[in-house]
Amino acid sequence: MKLFKFKRRKNSIIEDGVARDPVIIPRSEHGISRKNIDEPALKVLYRLHKAGYQACLVGGAVRDLLLGRHPKDFDVATDATPEEVSELFRNCRLIGRRFRLAHIHFGRQIIEVATFRAPHGELHEEHHDESGRILRDNVYGEIHDDVWRRDFTANALYYNIADFSIIDYVGGAEDIANKRLRLIGDQETRYREDPVRMLRAIRFASKLGFTIDENCRQAILELGPLLAEIPPARLFEEVLKLFHSGHAEESFVALQHYDLLKYLFPDAVRELGDSTTAEFVRLAMQSTDDRVRLDKPVTPAFLFAALLWTPVRKQTEANVEAGMPHAVALQKAATKLVANQVRYVSIPKRFTTTMRDIWSLQARFRFHAGRRAYAVLHHPKFRAAYDFLCLRANAGETAIDDCRWWTELQEKSPEQQKKIISAQKPGPRKRRHKPKKDKGGQR
Ligand code: ATP
Ligand code: MG
Repeated sequence: MKLFKFKRRKNSIIEDGVARDPVIIPRSEHGISRKNIDEPALKVLYRLHKAGYQACLVGGAVRDLLLGRHPKDFDVATDATPEEVSELFRNCRLIGRRFRLAHIHFGRQIIEVATFRAPHGELHEEHHDESGRILRDNVYGEIHDDVWRRDFTANALYYNIADFSIIDYVGGAEDIANKRLRLIGDQETRYREDPVRMLRAIRFASKLGFTIDENCRQAILELGPLLAEIPPARLFEEVLKLFHSGHAEESFVALQHYDLLKYLFPDAVRELGDSTTAEFVRLAMQSTDDRVRLDKPVTPAFLFAALLWTPVRKQTEANVEAGMPHAVALQKAATKLVANQVRYVSIPKRFTTTMRDIWSLQARFRFHAGRRAYAVLHHPKFRAAYDFLCLRANAGETAIDDCRWWTELQEKSPEQQKKIISAQKPGPRKRRHKPKKDKGGQR
């Protein structure tokens, strides 16, 4: 399928790092219409332009508009400095030290405005650490400088509000039309500058159905260990984007393919050789994707809880064997595994609390009578924990009985629930069926 009119012109791709003239794709030859650009983004673009600055929509927004998708957010690039941007907009906040940006607030929507950056050549050695990682990025430049510091060609197009054309220095329009993900410049240098680009490659390939360029793939296979240098908080943000964009399952498979998972979830990786665990994790990813597509809320706690479930379960068993009561054994196991996990990908406290709730409710689903059952049913994390239980049953890790019992109970009125719960004998329920598949989701 042809995505948009694309005329091949003289090659504008750089040679020896020197920018040649860009390809200008005029309004009549591309499909980006102002109708599809959110009003706040247009306001920002027009105001900058009227004040005499260059103003372009850039990055993912241009890419998504060319693909006929609605962009998640609209980023603007300009030759105005952050301070100059701030003078033009009352609703502007300047953020970031490593990378200074202007955020223009329109109710809940934020338009991010970045000043064109210059590249990091040998002149700017002080901005890199010894492995080549960029530490600071506040050297301003012009549009023809800015383009080379972007990651993929598909992310390096500029939609110019001055004449509604697209400015393409790197062959990005053609790559988008061919659904190709190509890193700009030398692969190794670019991944060393920022190893998170490896995760971004996987994310864009999964989300957009693009093929990762051969060089780019090879470099990921070799440079994976660089991810170990990335701060866990940044990896958390990136993992969220990977798993909450509606393509968690595909992204997870790609992370395994490129052997990157071990830098993110080492304890989980050790257990994925077991087919039941692998199936459970796959179902959790799939359930998250289903929910994202249906616009239902998702919490990172659910996937993190799923990834760490087998290690937590095994450590709990070991603790019980060492003589601890089950509840204590579980809490100790949870503490140990969460503490190790956050050395790689951090997890904010509010999510680790939910993870612990999900895990500890698993054993409590065995109780179907009296106050204990009520406490489970009215627990704030009941829904997530119940979905988790059903996915475990679907994967064949636990019997289906409890999932069925709680499913049926939820379908009853509060009076009926009361009757059912009071009619149960106290104590954990005996299992009658072998593990069997059934439906489940997450909430
Ligand atoms: P999404 O649809 O996820 O928002 P995006 O391409 O807009 O995708 P952002 O993280 O919003 O991604 O970044 C906006 C733009 O900034 C990118 O398109 C890219 O040009 C540039 N960019 C972002 N992160 C990096 C990076 N780590 N290295 C180089 N360029 C980057
Ligand atoms: Mg974006």
